[in-house]
Amino acid sequence: MKNAEDLRRALRAIDHKSYPAYKSTRGDYQFPRYTLSIDHVQGDPFAAPSRVSVHISGKTAAFPAFLYDTYEKRVALQDYLLRQFARAIAPYSFRAKGSGKSGLLGISRCGQEILERTACVLNASDGSLIINMEIGFPANGRTIASQELIRILFDFLPGCVEKSLLYRSLDPKACANVARLCEDQQAIRAALKEKGLTAFIADGSILPRETGVSDLPMKHAVPFISPESLRITLDLPNRGPVSGMGIPLGVTLIVGGGFHGKSTLLQALERGVYNHIAGDGREYVITDESAVKIRSEDGRSIRRTDISMFINDLPNGKNTAAFTTEDASGSTSQAANVVEAMEAGTSLLLIDEDTSATNFMVRDELMQRLIHRDMEPITPFIDRVRELYEAHGISTILVAGSSGAYFHVADTILQMDRYVPKDITALAKQEAAAFPISVTSLPTALLPSFKRCPTPSPEFRGDRIKLKSLGRDGVSINRETIDLRYVEQLRDREQSAALGYAMVCAQQHLMDGRHTLSQIVAELEAMLDEKGLESLCGGHSGVPFLARPRTQELFACFNRYRGLQL
Ligand code: ADP
Ligand code: MG
Repeated sequence: MKNAEDLRRALRAIDHKSYPAYKSTRGDYQFPRYTLSIDHVQGDPFAAPSRVSVHISGKTAAFPAFLYDTYEKRVALQDYLLRQFARAIAPYSFRAKGSGKSGLLGISRCGQEILERTACVLNASDGSLIINMEIGFPANGRTIASQELIRILFDFLPGCVEKSLLYRSLDPKACANVARLCEDQQAIRAALKEKGLTAFIADGSILPRETGVSDLPMKHAVPFISPESLRITLDLPNRGPVSGMGIPLGVTLIVGGGFHGKSTLLQALERGVYNHIAGDGREYVITDESAVKIRSEDGRSIRRTDISMFINDLPNGKNTAAFTTEDASGSTSQAANVVEAMEAGTSLLLIDEDTSATNFMVRDELMQRLIHRDMEPITPFIDRVRELYEAHGISTILVAGSSGAYFHVADTILQMDRYVPKDITALAKQEAAAFPISVTSLPTALLPSFKRCPTPSPEFRGDRIKLKSLGRDGVSINRETIDLRYVEQLRDREQSAALGYAMVCAQQHLMDGRHTLSQIVAELEAMLDEKGLESLCGGHSGVPFLARPRTQELFACFNRYRGLQL
C-alpha cells in the first residue's frame, strides 16, 4: 500500500494542474494511525464534495468490547464517536480556501435520536472503525490548489482523528455512560414486553421541544409527572430505580383542553421508538418500537390495499379489498395507513385528532340516525378500535380533544391538565354511562389480505437509475417523487436517503412478482443486519450518508411509491 508521503508527493505533483488531475489520487494511503482512502473525487470544485474514508484498526481504536457487545450498544457508541468527530472537524471546515466547495469538511449531522449511520461504522468482530466523510478538494477557479488539500489531510485531519476516535484520548467515563444509558433504555424496552405496557415515560422527563423547528428540549418546561394510579418503578441495571407512567396495553385516550400538552405527549411517544441521547429530556421515554403514527394524508397514492375493514360499497363501485387511487381522500388515506401499519407488524397505533379525518374517527348519533348505515361506506375507527386490540393485539393511544365518544371504548383515560396527566378513567366511565351511545355491534372484520407482490415499473428496467434525495421529506427515483412528508416517525434526511436506495435495491434484486411486500422487506432487513447499511448501494463512488430506517418506514415508503406496480 502507498503511504502518506506518497500521497504528499502525488499532490505536490498536480498543484496548479487542471481539476480532473485530482482523480489520480484515488486509492488507499497508510498514515501513522489509520488508512486514508480517497474513494471518490469530485468532478469540479462546485460539484458534490469528494468522498474520503478513514480506517482505524481495532488495535489502534482500542475500544473495550463491553462498549459494543450488543447491536444497540454498538450503534450508540458509533453515534457518540460520530458526534465527537463532527465536533472535532467543524472548526476546520473551509479553513482551507478556494472556489466553490473548496475546503469543506462534512459529515452527518446527528439529531436527538441515536441512529445507525454509514458515516461511522464500528466492526463488531475486530473493533476496527471506519469514518466516511466528505471533503471539498480545493481549487482556485478550476486550478488545483493541492497545498490546501495537504493542509487538510496532513495538518487538520490527523489531529481530529487522534482526539475524537481513539479510546485512549476519550474520556472513558463518558464512553461508559453511553453504553450504560443504552443498557437502561433496552431494559425499559424489555420491561414493556414483560409487564404488558405500550410505553413508559419517566417522571422528570422533558417532553416539549424548544420551538417548532428545534428538537432541543424546552427550557423551563413543566417536567413530566405520572398519575399515582399508573406509576410504576423499574429497576434499571445502571441507573437503578426509575419511576414513571406505564401505559397499559389496550385503548388509551388522552383528553384535555386545548394547549394543555396532549399533542406534545403523543409526539414524545411517537419518537420513543428511538433511543435518545443523554440530555435530551426523553432518554427514558420508551415506546413499543413497532408503534406507528397514523394520520390522514390527502392525496397519497394507494396500491391495492385492502381497506375493507373500514370502507365498503363506495358509490363508484370501486373494490375496497384491493383499493387503488392516485389521490386518496382524508378517510381512505387514513384507513390505508392503519391497514398498512398492520401489514408492517405494528402493535401500537398513535393517533392525534388534530391530524385525523373526522369522518374516519367517529360518526355522531344524529348523523347515524339521519344517514343510515347502508348509505355510509365508512365504518369509523371507533367501531374497530376494540376489535383491533382484542382480535389482533394492536393497542391504540389516541388524543381526542373534542369527541367524547371514545370514552366508551377506552381502557385508560388520561386528562392533560396544565401539562400534567391525570388518570380520569373511573370518572369518565361514570359520565359516559349516563350518555349511552348506540354501539353498533358489527361482525368482526376479516383480517386484511396482505398478498400483494410488487413488481418494478417498466421504465425501471433500464440500467441507469437516477436517485435524488429531497431531504427528510422525500426521495425521487427516475423523476418519480416519493412523498414522505407525512411519514412522521421518519426523523432524518439520511433515513429518507436510505429508503431511496432500498427501493432501488429491491427493484433490482428482490422483486420478481412472486414475493410479497412483507417478504421483500424481510429480505432487505436481513441484508441490513448481515452486511450493514452500506450494502444498500453499489459503493463505486464512496459510501453515501445513510441512516437506518425502521421496518415500518420501509413499508411506508414502498406503499407511497407510485412507480411500483403492486
Ligand atoms: P394540545 O395538543 O393539548 O393543544 P400541545 O401539546 O400542542 O397542546 O401544547 C401546547 C403548547 O404547550 C406548546 O407550545 C408546547 O410546546 C407547550 N408545552 C407542552 N408541554 C409542555 C410542558 N410540559 N411544559 C411547558 N410547555 C409545554
Ligand atoms: Mg394538539
